[in-house]
Amino acid sequence: MEFECDKCGICCKNIRMSDLSSDFDRGDGVCKHLTAENLCEIYSERPIFCNVDAYYEKFLSKKMSREEYHKLNHEACEWFKKIDSERQKCYL
Ligand code: SF4
Ligand code: SF4
Repeated sequence: MEFECDKCGICCKNIRMSDLSSDFDRGDGVCKHLTAENLCEIYSERPIFCNVDAYYEKFLSKKMSREEYHKLNHEACEWFKKIDSERQKCYL
C-alpha cells in the first residue's frame, strides 16, 4: 500500500528543516517546486527524499516493514503540522 499523504504541503513549506532539500529553497523555506495548490510540479521526477515509498524501497526495506515506516512518516507529518500551527499562532 502506498503512503497516504493528505497534500497539506507543510513539509514542502518547511524544507529548511532538512539539509537534503536546501537546493530547492526559493528563499523563504518553501520549495520552489510547490504550486499555489500545494502540489509538486515535479511530482513524477521528485527526488527520492521526497518520495516516501521509493525511499523505503531503496534504503529501508530490509530494516523495517513498510507499515512501520509509514507510521513513522505519519508521526513526522503530525509533528510538522503541529510546529506549523504553533508558528501560525505567533503571526496572529
Ligand atoms: S506533511 Fe505529510 S501529509 Fe503533509 S504534504 Fe507532507 S507528507 Fe503529505
Ligand atoms: S520537490 Fe516536490 S515534494 Fe519535494 S519538497 Fe519540493 S514540492 Fe515538495
